Amino acid sequence: MTYYLDPHGCAKNQVDAENMMAALNAAGWTPCGDPGAADLCIVNTCGFIESAKKESLDAVFSLRSSYPSARILMAGCLAQRYAEDLKGDLPEADAFFGNADLSRVVEAAEAAVRGSHEALIPPIDASGEVDFSSCSDDRPLLSLPGSAYIKITEGCDNCCTYCAIPLIRGNLRSRSIDSIVEEARGLLHRGVKELCLIGQDLGSYGVDKGGECLLPDLLDGLSKLEGDFWIRLLYIHPDRFPRGILDRCARDPRILPYFDLPFQHASGRVLRAMNRSGDAETYLRLIADIRSALPDATIRSTFLVGFPGETDEDFEALLDFQRRAEIDWLGAFVYSREEGTPAYSMRGRVAKKTAEERKRRIEEAQVPITEARVDRCVGRVMRALVEEAVENEDGLYLGRVASQAPEVDGATVLSSDSPLAPGSFVAARVFRRAGFDLDAACHA
Ligand code: SF4
Repeated sequence: MTYYLDPHGCAKNQVDAENMMAALNAAGWTPCGDPGAADLCIVNTCGFIESAKKESLDAVFSLRSSYPSARILMAGCLAQRYAEDLKGDLPEADAFFGNADLSRVVEAAEAAVRGSHEALIPPIDASGEVDFSSCSDDRPLLSLPGSAYIKITEGCDNCCTYCAIPLIRGNLRSRSIDSIVEEARGLLHRGVKELCLIGQDLGSYGVDKGGECLLPDLLDGLSKLEGDFWIRLLYIHPDRFPRGILDRCARDPRILPYFDLPFQHASGRVLRAMNRSGDAETYLRLIADIRSALPDATIRSTFLVGFPGETDEDFEALLDFQRRAEIDWLGAFVYSREEGTPAYSMRGRVAKKTAEERKRRIEEAQVPITEARVDRCVGRVMRALVEEAVENEDGLYLGRVASQAPEVDGATVLSSDSPLAPGSFVAARVFRRAGFDLDAACHA
């Protein structure tokens, strides 16, 4: 049997898709790049916010209209969150599969091929014993060459009032340090050069196992692995930033000084309403501590505007924080009202037009800040991970340097007078910034 997979959503969802592929391949199924020729089409959906839900539903509708006789399995967060409703309302899908126990994907695939329209939504295992990502050696990787995500936790206990993830992924469950180090060893053995550690909040890693954050201990374990590779940390809740990781980064340059800290806001009043405990001064001190410990550090963040009750003063406080923080990479999002979350019934809703305007002003103000931060690379010889050749452009390749995370930050255009291997490290002299990207030259 053959399957076509259409992945949506975040890096955590991508790892789920890779694990589903591994389970199907192990059961004798074969991946197929053509949805029209596949026995089954799997849409791995996202159910986080309105726009993401719409994108996933549109993917199902478009498959159905292009391939009327195709068999379609809706998997992922949207199925996990709404399967019972969708069963009645979405005849376009032939079956539904949640994400709490991915090893059962073969059962769901067979149900879809039968056209049973059933929903297989295994219960979320609150015990935390489930090792939800354990097949490193045969897990297909959907990332560009040389890079792989390692999911170290599932679920979240932070309960930010706007967030539906705890409703979808359940409470926090952390993997053991040994199982993560083993997975990393397997991926490095396969030639992976960049290990991106992900979870809903890396700052909570291990807290469910005994109260303490074990991220520094995990980095100690990964540091024992031999070889030339990068470790990149994604998604650390700023209120839970484990400062113990700073000296690990200082000691082992393979642990990149790259910190993805979703501040979301800077007004203490708004952050309290989000069930967060920070404010502008606390976050500025955190940034200053990171930059004094690691002068070459890169900081990525996200801001959420239009949260219920956000006033003009709150927004001005956010703009002022943005100006003083000088964050390297920043994404701005408009609040999405999600049923089942505490914020859903909060008063003081902000008009969509106002929220969109605030998002636009944040994005506009961020351009010169990011450009100035990217300019720090110009004139330097930096290590870059080569990702792919630029089509029809001899000697040109796309890659990333340490300050550029996959898929979300700028890229580095590498010019080389000799062929470069995707998935390998090269040394390149950065000679120019082009927008948010870098131009660099490799000399053999
Ligand atoms: S940290 Fe907050 S926003 Fe992030 S997944 Fe957890 S509850 Fe959601």
